[in-house]
Amino acid sequence: MAAAESWLYPTPRGLYCAAGKFHVDPPAGAERALITHGHSDHARSGHANVLATAETIAIMQERYGARSAGTFQAVRYDEPLVIGGVRVAFVPAGHILGSAQIVLEWGGKRVVVSGDYKRAPDPTCAPFEPVKCDVFVTEATFALPVFHHGPVEREIQKLLQSMARQPARIHLIGAYGLGKCQRLIKLLRIAGYDRPIWLHDALAGLTHLYQRLGQDLGEVRIVPDEADGVPAGALVLCPPSSIGDRWARRFGDTVTGFASGWMRVRGRARQQGVELPLVISDHADWTELLETIVETEAEDVWVTHGREDALVYQLGKMGRRARALSLVGLDEDDG
Ligand SMILES: [Zn+2]
Ligand SMILES: [Zn+2]
Repeated sequence: MAAAESWLYPTPRGLYCAAGKFHVDPPAGAERALITHGHSDHARSGHANVLATAETIAIMQERYGARSAGTFQAVRYDEPLVIGGVRVAFVPAGHILGSAQIVLEWGGKRVVVSGDYKRAPDPTCAPFEPVKCDVFVTEATFALPVFHHGPVEREIQKLLQSMARQPARIHLIGAYGLGKCQRLIKLLRIAGYDRPIWLHDALAGLTHLYQRLGQDLGEVRIVPDEADGVPAGALVLCPPSSIGDRWARRFGDTVTGFASGWMRVRGRARQQGVELPLVISDHADWTELLETIVETEAEDVWVTHGREDALVYQLGKMGRRARALSLVGLDEDDG
């Protein structure tokens, strides 16, 4: 049996499967790119051929244009195909709509490239499916024991209670535009919030795409240019970078919040001027990372994307072979 490293390895152009002649989540234009999900640090434009779930393709086309790759080929979850002798399957990752782990089998070894993932339930995407494998490639965004995300329902109640206590103030909440924003809306709807939710126009395109792809998000409205267009007490979602900028001043005295796994770190919330930190993450926390790795029964764990050192060290203590994969172009854009 060929060690997985002999046919799948990191290159300056991303993780490369030599046996199948394709890259996974390549950072620059590749001949054949298999894409785990639509976040920009995984899905780039300019590939000759893209293989991804239909939702990921729709997200890429919304962001980069219909012709942002030479060809797009949609693949369904759990319907394996063969590329150059490598068996390939896309399996739900529970991270955002359309997100997938990519399962590769060749030479008697199975490798799971999990992309980004979480184990907490998310009403906007299919739940993570654990797959037993020889090598598990894991992210490490929140790979420190301090990161424990907790139930999202508690954070949603925190927001609803704040709005009930201060009914005249606009609540301005920062949320990443792909995944977090739409999950936050959906969670609020499930919790019974039925008023219109206002969006910064940078969040509109992908939110409308989620709606077109069948997600019921209730009534969403775009914040108009005129200062008086948004009623007192409204809930406004915006990109995190807009919380403190000129755009936000039109609302006057607001309660500002930020929905992110990073909000577990109090100093970080304070530093960003966030009054209402909401610990809502689309990534596995420390416990979920370790439990998931154990569940895969992988002998080897390749760690990327965040706190590689801490996770590699911990896995070593647990008697597993683990190493950091140095991949370029991956960053924490979607906590
Ligand atoms: Zn992501
Ligand atoms: Zn990522």
